[in-house]
Amino acid sequence: MNNPNKPLMLVLSSPSGAGKTTLSKKIQQSDSSFEISVSHTTRKPRANEVDGLDYHFVNKKKFESLLKDNAFYEHAEIFGNYYGTSKSSINKITQKKHNVLFDIDWQGSEQLSKFKELNLVKVFILPPSKEELEKRLIARNQDDKEAIKRRMLAYSKDVVHQKDYDYVLINDDVEDCFKKLKKIISSHL
Ligand code: 5GP
Repeated sequence: MNNPNKPLMLVLSSPSGAGKTTLSKKIQQSDSSFEISVSHTTRKPRANEVDGLDYHFVNKKKFESLLKDNAFYEHAEIFGNYYGTSKSSINKITQKKHNVLFDIDWQGSEQLSKFKELNLVKVFILPPSKEELEKRLIARNQDDKEAIKRRMLAYSKDVVHQKDYDYVLINDDVEDCFKKLKKIISSHL
């Protein structure tokens, strides 16, 4: 049972390309009590990404030193890069009594679940099909052919973990999926 006096920690995970980033942004735009947790990553920024806004982009040495200092709630290696949620970025959000939105993978969700004091609600977003996912990855034009191939290979491994989430939503139509997500959120606030 969630504690309404504590900030809600909404975790959104999905195979990459299922629309989770769009949904996260829509939640934040529609409800100013939610802030997206900005992760650290060693991945290179994409053309449209802004440091400090989309991610804190750091090199491997910096990431490893943060890891050594126990600065992360959770971290994972994904497609050869490190990703992690720093304790300080979450604390900054919760000090304002804001709710937190995590756009992280199943490994991160599993690690966060161990912190029983966190008011977690975990939602797994699925694309309508594997074929549709591949179409979307090609259409969004962010990754080269090799990266798309890697993401498609990861798909089957990712979807196995939907069983560890509180809710599973299929993102067939983004507005429809968003409505369902809003309902889930309001039932926990
Ligand atoms: P992308 O490189 O496409 O932005 O993200 C790749 C994957 O990393 C996505 O599934 C995203 O949710 C996940 N991710 C982003 N930040 C974090 C994080 O801090 N921790 C974990 N575990 N996964 C993350």
